[in-house]
Amino acid sequence: MSFPVIGITTGHSQNKYGLPQIHLLDTYVNATLKAGGIPIILPPELHREEKWMEIYNQLDGILLSGGADINPQRFGGEAHPSIHDIDDTRDSIEIAITRKAIDDSKPFFGICRGFQLLNVALGGTLYTHIRDQFSAKIEHETSPQEPRNKLVHTVRLEKNSHLAQILEVEMLSVNSWHHQGAKDIPSALKITSHAPDGLVESLELPEHPFGIAVQWHPEWMTKDPHMQALFRAFIDASRKQK
Ligand code: MN
Repeated sequence: MSFPVIGITTGHSQNKYGLPQIHLLDTYVNATLKAGGIPIILPPELHREEKWMEIYNQLDGILLSGGADINPQRFGGEAHPSIHDIDDTRDSIEIAITRKAIDDSKPFFGICRGFQLLNVALGGTLYTHIRDQFSAKIEHETSPQEPRNKLVHTVRLEKNSHLAQILEVEMLSVNSWHHQGAKDIPSALKITSHAPDGLVESLELPEHPFGIAVQWHPEWMTKDPHMQALFRAFIDASRKQK
């Protein structure tokens, strides 16, 4: 069996000395490996002069990882004091790669910020702080003291979706680590699940081999058979690209 190569997007942070570093939680790498993929970390700096194009054709799939907020100027979003760690270089490379993967029918999987990114890349908008802009009856921003795999709300899946075919359930319990959410959604994207308060929790691109994005964090729940199935379906679709 071959091992598809998965490009994983990254962000920036600072180490304990305040020095700049490329940032990716290892859960994305480990979940990719566990599902049978070979992770390749893509630094945002590859955006300069479109250097990412030099490696793009060797990637069988793209994993849009979680992270900080997208610059609200990209989608005409409401300013909010909670918006944090804007990273224009990261926004640029992720939007460019996502649009290219859509055009090329290359499998991609968006997680949390990656879900929001897919929406923005196709012209959608975000609630820049759910609590103040959406009548949420659920707390989507779990306290940082809690374990990352804590299940805090359910999602109801659309039966006729690629996501529901993979998960083989109508209801799923998920974790929730987001303070922003999808607001206006472009017609090119299919809404595939909602939280009980009506917030959209997943999107997909119909007619694409694997163009799925979820607001929750399956990479923290790789012991859960449903989340395993989701990662494996992404890696299997990427393998077919080889
Ligand atoms: Mn949620």
